[in-house]
Amino acid sequence: MTPFSSASAPSALTDVVTVRLSGDDLKLISNHFEDKSPQEVLRWAIERFTPDIALACSLGSDDMALVDMLSKIAPKTRVFYLDTGVLFKETYDLRDEVIRRYGITPIQLLPDLTLEEQAAAHGANLWERDPDLCCNIRKVQPLVRFLSGLQAWITGIRRDQTPARANSGLVEFDKKFQLVKINPLAKWTDAMVWDYLEKNNVPYNPLHKQGYPSIGCLPCTTQVKPGEDPRSGRWKGFKKDECGLHCGATCPILPEGATAAAPSEQATK
Ligand code: SF4
Repeated sequence: MTPFSSASAPSALTDVVTVRLSGDDLKLISNHFEDKSPQEVLRWAIERFTPDIALACSLGSDDMALVDMLSKIAPKTRVFYLDTGVLFKETYDLRDEVIRRYGITPIQLLPDLTLEEQAAAHGANLWERDPDLCCNIRKVQPLVRFLSGLQAWITGIRRDQTPARANSGLVEFDKKFQLVKINPLAKWTDAMVWDYLEKNNVPYNPLHKQGYPSIGCLPCTTQVKPGEDPRSGRWKGFKKDECGLHCGATCPILPEGATAAAPSEQATK
């Protein structure tokens, strides 16, 4: 049972919510959207949380679908990306295309440490020895700082991507970062995303068609063969399939100055 009719859901939802939504409220809302489109989830979230909401955009295929949807629903919504300093050239090119095509300038979130400062503090190529620490410095900490000013963030995660994402709600409370998390594509498959991109002529990273279904930082992303797990090209050789943004309590936020683990504790082969 839902507390509103489906026809009037977005406004009715806005009317019934109080300033803070409890976990039970969010579950109820998420369940309501299970048979609705990503755009309906987005419309509700924008109406409920603007201006304290932003889209996390890695410039991957899922996030590009959301950029396109958002450009048609609420183009002034903030979009941000985590610039680790080691993204592919094609990713930076796509960011520039987003600016040209949509008039949206993604906010660049930078780590506290430059690559040189990180190398001085933790040794060169930290990603080869302790990718968790490297992700913590270059992705998680900048995200913590940015999200602390928001009530909600929108992400492009899908339930079929990793075990940690399998139970993602369309709307849920993000215990790790302590704000509401909106996952409009949680129910979608990769094929549904690509269908949307093609039908709407959405630009995408050309690397996707060159054996890179999931694209992260250059040193930690390799090509995968047809039929392989799409995320198996990320952090090859490590027991790691998340950068620390979407794994909830299973990967707590490390202190900023955490010491690198010995390679034997991290590497699996
Ligand atoms: S994906 Fe690799 S290079 Fe990028 S932040 Fe994580 S460990 Fe560092």
